[in-house]
Amino acid sequence: PCTDFDKAYFHSYAHVGIHEEMIKDRVRTDTYRSAILQHQKHIEGKVVMDVGCGTGILAIFCAQAGAKRVYAVDASDIALQANEVVKANNLSDRIIVLHGRVEDVEIDEEVDVIVSEWMGYMLLYESMLGSVITARDRWLKRGGLILPSHATLYMAPITHPDRYTESIDFWRNVYGIDMSAMLPLAKQCAFEEPSVETISGENVLTWPHVVKYVDCYTLQNYELESVTTRFQFKSMMRAPFHGFAFWFDVEFNGPANLNTNAQILLPGSPNPPSLDGAVKKKRTNPNDTLILSTAPEDPPTHWQQTLIYFYEPIEVEQDQVIEGSLVLSQSKENRRFMNIHLEYSSGGRSFVKESVMR
Ligand code: SAH
Repeated sequence: PCTDFDKAYFHSYAHVGIHEEMIKDRVRTDTYRSAILQHQKHIEGKVVMDVGCGTGILAIFCAQAGAKRVYAVDASDIALQANEVVKANNLSDRIIVLHGRVEDVEIDEEVDVIVSEWMGYMLLYESMLGSVITARDRWLKRGGLILPSHATLYMAPITHPDRYTESIDFWRNVYGIDMSAMLPLAKQCAFEEPSVETISGENVLTWPHVVKYVDCYTLQNYELESVTTRFQFKSMMRAPFHGFAFWFDVEFNGPANLNTNAQILLPGSPNPPSLDGAVKKKRTNPNDTLILSTAPEDPPTHWQQTLIYFYEPIEVEQDQVIEGSLVLSQSKENRRFMNIHLEYSSGGRSFVKESVMR
């Protein structure tokens, strides 16, 4: 059912600003366009569905790549503009804009390709991936193509002294006044909930851990209700440990049986954070698989990175072990929100941090 929360969610996509931000993110939009062109053989003369078409940009890329018909579906009122854009580009004979949820709309044929830009902060925030899986199960032909095909969520411990100084230590001396009494409130306001900001490879203490690897060809919706992982890191340097960063990448690949080399890529072999060579190796893998990365060492995107800060930093030595567990779950009150339960220990001390991304 379409809840009030869903209505609010779709309403947020009726504003121009959010589409402007996504389209101006060239890393995002150029990678999608390249991926569509790279798979032109599978798109030419075929039927495509764009799940969550927004302004219609990906549907139009697919029409330009020669798609016979594109169903461009969006539940937000932005679909009205998408329809006008399609008309103005003389593509109404090939792109059919449907204003509704993919869970509710009806089409009377199967599709060869699904394209969608569903990724939220921390990959899973917004819970839109489930709608792509629903579209797959309703309409995708056997052996059909899904772009993107795979996604990986990573986490790593970070140090960020500048951020700590700017938001917290700032209160220790304000125009010569000791405002340390502000510290508890400042920490609470700055660090209670996850924050979306850009860090660099230098903030990352060691290689990332794979929280979740998703194969869009085989994923089942129930697997998204909650994701659990155990992690163990060894800090590569002595530093104040301020929290964890999360980021993701997505791959544009065919179903596994069409890509005999696919296993070389992932899962479980993340790249060292600042070792460029390894990242490029992944990019120029034998399959030429395109990857859209939001990692700190890669060019910035509008997703930036998601940070979970501690109220107090932990001083870690080189090679000190950091371990614990993480549970990400869809909130019961609003499945678009994400509950984050983090347990971590280092140097003999243990902590728990609960937060909600809303
Ligand atoms: N494809 C566009 C927009 C991506 S943003 C682009 O790349 O620029 C995601 C879009 O998906 C939003 O416009 C949102 O309204 C839509 N959306 C999310 N869940 C949906 C669902 N279940 N059914 C239809 N549209 C959905």
